[in-house]
Amino acid sequence: MKLVASIRLFPDAEQSATLRETLERCNAACDWLAEIGASAGKTRQYDLHHMAYADLRARFGLTAQVAVRCIGKVADAFKVGDKDETRTFHRHAAQPYDDRIFRFLPGQDAVSIWTLAGRQRIPFVCGDRQREMLTRAKGQVDLMFVRGKWLLAVTCDVDEAPAYVPINVRGIDFGVVNIVVDDLGRTQSGAQIDDVRRRQHSRRRALQKLGTRSAKRALRRASGKQARFQRHTNHVLSKAIVLDAERGRSAVALENLEGIRDRVQANRRQRRRLHNWGFHELRSLIEYKARLRGVPVDLVDPRNTSRQCSCCGLIDKRNRPSRDEFKCIGCGVAAPADHNAALNIRQRALTARGMVVPPQVAIRLSGCVSHKESRLL
Ligand SMILES: [Zn+2]
Repeated sequence: MKLVASIRLFPDAEQSATLRETLERCNAACDWLAEIGASAGKTRQYDLHHMAYADLRARFGLTAQVAVRCIGKVADAFKVGDKDETRTFHRHAAQPYDDRIFRFLPGQDAVSIWTLAGRQRIPFVCGDRQREMLTRAKGQVDLMFVRGKWLLAVTCDVDEAPAYVPINVRGIDFGVVNIVVDDLGRTQSGAQIDDVRRRQHSRRRALQKLGTRSAKRALRRASGKQARFQRHTNHVLSKAIVLDAERGRSAVALENLEGIRDRVQANRRQRRRLHNWGFHELRSLIEYKARLRGVPVDLVDPRNTSRQCSCCGLIDKRNRPSRDEFKCIGCGVAAPADHNAALNIRQRALTARGMVVPPQVAIRLSGCVSHKESRLL
């Protein structure tokens, strides 16, 4: 599996200025190339190369391999969207490097990297996990300048652990009240996150009203801060879910939401989730952490997971008196709606694996309220 390790470069002041100039020059070259590519109707790497390679090098003073990387970057940008429109590159957009213009210096925490002032030796700092990943670096790196820091994003090939044969399945539901609920009814509340979001939202409103230049700057910072907070939360949650499953030698079961966008059956709840980027990120983090640790991930049919009774199997719209509650009109079982959904997700994965357990037993096994007790709720 391919993963990206981020390492931080520590250039001295002079090197930093050179790196910045290099990055800006490369992006100016990409802008120029994109524009003539779009107007000539040539957007493929091969065509761009033949049309503009020599010109690109001469105009912007790039070495052969740097020019090749710029052409590749522009061709990649043309792969999405309208071919007739040009692409513009931020002056500090990430610049790809390969092993002809960049290398790790053996035995030193430093890299040798091409700049407009020739090759530079620049030290870096990274954590133990990254250092281990770097031994599997694949040769392609991206130079980035983010919030005043120089970073290298290094693509590494990481071994996946072979998936074990699970003896149990953990059903995971993503909700709105609770971000994560499993079939044992354990929740990771969204309260803390909502709190931070609300605070940040009101701060943004206030800044928008002000409209001054410094307010705009603060706004940009705030939006980055929120994204980082969400990302951090998703990392913590996904790690907890995967480690918990590993301890119990369980598979993790999630709703399969791929391709559902085209299906008419996607209900409002599923649509809202599909368009919620935070959940998309959380799902993919769970999937990749699980692959690293050999935890099997089962994707189950998402239809009616919120309407079906996890106890008797009855599917009815009226089983959901409100967004947060589930109460079966057939057998009377009541539970938080997302817990009921997590139980259904688990049950579907068990069935698909041929680990069939009668519904009632499944509930008792998974620590949910028993059939009788739940009537009292
Ligand atoms: Zn029921």
